[in-house]
Amino acid sequence: MKINQQDPELAKFYQAELQRQRHTLEMIPSENFVSEAVLEALGGVGTNKYSEGYPGARYYGGNQYIDQIENLARDRAKQLFGVDHVNVQPYSGSPANQAAIFSVAKPGEKIIGMSLLFGGHLTHGWKINFSGVYYNAVQYQTGPDGILNYDELEKIVKAEKPKVLFCGATAYPRLFDYKRIAKIVHSVGGYFIADIAHECGLMAARVIPTPVGHADIITTTTHKSLRGPRGAMIMCNGKPAHPLKPLAEDENPRENLPTLIDRAVFPGLQGGPHNHTTTAIAVALGEALKPEFKIYAQQILNNAHALAGSLMSEGLVLATGGTDNHLMIIDLTNLGIGGKVAENALEEVGITANKNTIPFDKRKPYDPSGVRLGTPALTTRGFKEDEMKTIGQLIAKTLKNTKNETVKEEIKKSVLAMTDKYPLYPNLRYV
Ligand SMILES: *Cc1c(COP(=O)(O)O)cnc(C)c1O
Repeated sequence: MKINQQDPELAKFYQAELQRQRHTLEMIPSENFVSEAVLEALGGVGTNKYSEGYPGARYYGGNQYIDQIENLARDRAKQLFGVDHVNVQPYSGSPANQAAIFSVAKPGEKIIGMSLLFGGHLTHGWKINFSGVYYNAVQYQTGPDGILNYDELEKIVKAEKPKVLFCGATAYPRLFDYKRIAKIVHSVGGYFIADIAHECGLMAARVIPTPVGHADIITTTTHKSLRGPRGAMIMCNGKPAHPLKPLAEDENPRENLPTLIDRAVFPGLQGGPHNHTTTAIAVALGEALKPEFKIYAQQILNNAHALAGSLMSEGLVLATGGTDNHLMIIDLTNLGIGGKVAENALEEVGITANKNTIPFDKRKPYDPSGVRLGTPALTTRGFKEDEMKTIGQLIAKTLKNTKNETVKEEIKKSVLAMTDKYPLYPNLRYV
């Protein structure tokens, strides 16, 4: 019995969501469109199975095939990123960060991360997040140009001596100097956690540098530029884990990160892994290992450059003056509108984006001075540089005419014509 026969009330909503995804330009940089193979894995029988533990060491019987699936996912991730150990069980990016901190720091110990207001993530020590409530969290910010100032960071780290330093962001359009950060945090004996949730796909394809070899622990989501299901992974180097055995007194934590991480995920924070997700992660990692994925990742970058260039040639201002990755933040100050108005106007014309703070924002976080845009999802649909140039013009026109209904109607028609050119899941229907 399919959803539509059993539950037409719900099927109607799901069909509407599918139509929305088909007919809008998805420019939220953390979103993407998974392959039909990933969708199939997600809707599969893995969801029926309990598998607390790890391959070869489970608390439930009947896991011989789930073990093979989880091992395949882990091996593919190891190969893709060039690391010794991967945990594919975290339920999502936030629980992965929680597990990463929990693996090396006790509650009350000091952690440091980039402030949410400067592009960092909630889980890097924001005051109302677990990371800011249970840990002694210090936050760093960017310089006045919106770019991280490593000399300043070094001063803060030397003074604060954190147990954990987080580096990674949800809204930072530039690359991080992981080598420099590693040197800074290791000089005070701290652990370096690199959170690559956003750029993971770009790093998997090696079109931007990775923190492998510099960071002690790497956390990532699997559903952003990596184009897998909603999920996460934690990676590190070190000898293979004996996940269910606690470390002995004389064992050095730094030499046993795989064990500490595995134990932090389970039994530390989670119960049974989501095996349908693990299966879908394996599918996505298999896709990311193919040569086509490298072409995809390079196109994300090319598209971001084309979009940024188009927006700036229309007179729009970008935070930090541009982008080195898949995302950019428009500083709306010179247009005289806030992020809320901008987000709504873009939504009205069929462009999905989200409001975001700019560095040293003078407005409030719920109606900040910026809008964040990214290219991973549109690149998956097949959009290239020429279309990015057009989209940049449409965005600029929308933001300059937020009150002009006629102009917005025209733009909406152009958006529809563009989305119709690249069908999304053409054979899928819920109603
Ligand atoms: C998205 C993101 C996360 C959290 O992922 P969720 O799956 O939403 O919990 C963590 N860190 C960074 C940098 C992110 O961008």
